Order: sequence, then C-alpha cells, then structure tokens
Amino acid sequence: MEKRLADGSIELIQADITGLQVDAIVTAANSGLRGGGGVDGAVHRAAGPRLLEACRSIGGCQTGSAVATDAFNLGQNGVKYVLHAVGPVWRGGTQSEPNLLRNAYATSLKIAREKKCSSIAFPSISTGVYGFPIDKAAPLALLTCKEFLESEPGDLLRIVFALFDQATLETFESALNNL
Ligand code: ADP
Repeated sequence: MEKRLADGSIELIQADITGLQVDAIVTAANSGLRGGGGVDGAVHRAAGPRLLEACRSIGGCQTGSAVATDAFNLGQNGVKYVLHAVGPVWRGGTQSEPNLLRNAYATSLKIAREKKCSSIAFPSISTGVYGFPIDKAAPLALLTCKEFLESEPGDLLRIVFALFDQATLETFESALNNL
C-alpha cells in the first residue's frame, strides 16, 4: 500500500528491514546503543560487528532522538546509513511516550534529509519489547511522516515502513487509510 504526499510517499510492506535497498535503514535502538534483540539484533547481524563499534564510540542516544552511523555490510545492498532511533518504553502513556515516539521518527527524518537520503525505511519503533500499543503507535508514526513531508520542503523522500508481522501491517494500513 502506498500514499503520495507533498514531497514524497509513504509505503507499507511486510518485510525484514535488513533486506531493503534504501539510503537509510532505521533501527529501534536502546539508549545505550548496545545492540539487542528484535529489529536491532537483525540490523546488527546484517551490518556486522563494526556497527556495534561505531555505536560504542558514539556512546548513547536520548530517548526520542536518533543518531546516524555508517551501514557497514548493509552497504552491499546500497544502504548508506543506519539510523539508530530510540523510542520510549510504554509506561501506561502518561510519561510523554507519544511525544517521545513522534520525536524518534521526526529526528530520523531530519537526519535523513540532512544526509541527502532519498529513501528511508522504518520498523515499527517501540511496539515490540518496548510495549507501545500498536493501535496508538501506527497513527503517530504515520502522522509524523506526513507532517514532515508537508512542512519540510525538500527533495523527494520515499518513506518505507518495513512491518514484520501481518497484524502490524494491517494496523498501519488502516491508520494510513485514515491519515
Ligand atoms: P522495541 O524495543 O522498540 O519495541 P523491537 O525490535 O522489539 O523494538 O520491535 C519493534 C518492531 O520490529 C516489532 O514490530 C517487531 O516485530 C519488528 N521486527 C523485528 N525484527 C524485524 C526485522 N528484521 N525487520 C523489521 N521489523 C522487525
């Protein structure tokens, strides 16, 4: 499913994000940038051990923000950068989780544009181990992308959401229909 908006597009696919050919792949990192399970584990395995070394030299990243590194072995697919975005752990919704989630997406988009990327792939940040309810996360993720494309004019940006499981894909599809 795809929607064209202002200076870009939002595409939803069911896929392993590490197989995509895009300029920037976003991973759902922890604030220590220590690597982990889930999508972050998959991205670190695909990029190789130099990714963790690059993360170590950066040291960490605040929740609601993102940092860029080289893509290392993912460069074989044409990927130029890995963006390590730190989403919030869900604590019931009263600890600014929605804002922090939106900022994790928005910072990634800003970095991608600064680095002249024309395509970026996101996973569904925070909705795995971090427990953010998917029905709340999907509209926030998509709205943040829409607002970015409409308010930050620039070169064409193709935004792909690589959603791992069918239920997540379906939730994003209905949120994109309502966007
Ligand atoms: P978080 O800790 O931010 O919740 P997780 O990695 O636990 O991050 O989960 C985020 C989402 O990423 C979940 O929907 C999970 O199913 C999905 N996911 C796991 N592996 C991959 C992958 N290889 N590609 C894309 N999405 C993935």
